[in-house]
Amino acid sequence: MTQKRVSILGATGSVGLAAVDLIQGAPERFRTEAVAGGSNAAALAAVARTTGARFVAIADPGQYGALRAACAGLDAELAAGPDAVIEAALRPADVVIAAIVGIAGLASTLAACRPGVTIALANKEALVSAGPVVLARAAAAGATILPVDSEHSALFQVYEPTRAHAVASLTLTASGGPFRDWSTARMAEVRVEDALKHPNWDMGAKITIDSATMFNKGLELIEAARLFPLPEDRIEIVVHPQSIIHGFATYRDGSVMAQMGAPDMRTPIAVALAWPDRMETPVARLNLAAIGSLTFEAPDPERFPALALARAALRAGADRPAILNAANEAAVAAFLDRRIAFLDIAAIVAETLAAVPQGPAATLDDVMAADAAARRFAAAAINRRRAA
Ligand code: NDP
Ligand code: MG
Repeated sequence: MTQKRVSILGATGSVGLAAVDLIQGAPERFRTEAVAGGSNAAALAAVARTTGARFVAIADPGQYGALRAACAGLDAELAAGPDAVIEAALRPADVVIAAIVGIAGLASTLAACRPGVTIALANKEALVSAGPVVLARAAAAGATILPVDSEHSALFQVYEPTRAHAVASLTLTASGGPFRDWSTARMAEVRVEDALKHPNWDMGAKITIDSATMFNKGLELIEAARLFPLPEDRIEIVVHPQSIIHGFATYRDGSVMAQMGAPDMRTPIAVALAWPDRMETPVARLNLAAIGSLTFEAPDPERFPALALARAALRAGADRPAILNAANEAAVAAFLDRRIAFLDIAAIVAETLAAVPQGPAATLDDVMAADAAARRFAAAAINRRRAA
């Protein structure tokens, strides 16, 4: 078996560390070329040590000294600053795992688009904001994008492109998050600690808050429309609190093809890493008898306005998804900093979409301009709430 060279962008995060675990478990299949992180030098050095990566990049230039000290004795090239993260994406690799959180991951995802490279894409924000730009870059470069997001990995496994005409709809499942059955009045009082407690998945802070507001599912709706050529009204969302079925395709003949698995990101990461083969993972085998029952319910658009906002942004197209994403990133950061209340997140996204005039998103410059405009408006909306 030829070894695949893997680079991990966002290697110290929840997805990044899950990928490291899989790579560690299959040294005959994988070797790590580059690892990149944001600002946690100690965590990045630990990953560099376990993986034996040849190139180690930290985005925060102020952490270069700490990285050097923590990597003492390692035979690896070290670099710092945003350009170093791009360099990590450009190192020779067969698979690049794009697992940086937020729009911060866009530039390195674009840089990873090179001939023959498989991009295992977890960074959904890049695809939401700059979908056409990313997909065009990958197609022009001859790179393959494979989804790591569990619902999209499910759809990738059940959707047959050669029989696309026979697909009636695609459905993403949603756990519903920690506030699935909470009233809006109760959600108004939510503390950061409550929102960081996800019932099924252990994830980074940003996506955990997105799961609580259901913006995560809104972003995933847009992500699905980018990855699978179906119109918005044929991509559906169903709440499934057990998170065992991750997504399904409904064919015109009535057949429904679903993908199941324990809620463990190592499965979708393994699908992308080993593709077109499959690999062994330490993920617990699904025991349906022990689980007993799988339940489903329609999402509540009143209590979770994120879903309708995302649908409208997807229908409107142009820069609307980028505006939605940037406003949400700013609002989630403000909530985590305890500067705004939980329900303010959706309110600020809605206000930003209403206030910032629609513009194009055909080029990277367009997308970055939309992102900046949304952040400017959202920052002011956040400050107004603090002053109130
Ligand atoms: P985490 O917050 O756990 O990790 C984020 C990673 O990105 C860390 O390695 C962090 O480094 C790094 N990072 C942050 N900013 C920068 C930057 N400017 N330049 C370089 N690196 C940076 O996030 P998750 O792993 O939870 O999520 C990563 C992505 O995957 C997100 O887009 C998320 O939506 C998506 N995803 C995650 C899932 C999950 O189960 N966690 C499931 C499906 C999708 P540092 O540690 O130094 O801050
Ligand atoms: Mg997901």
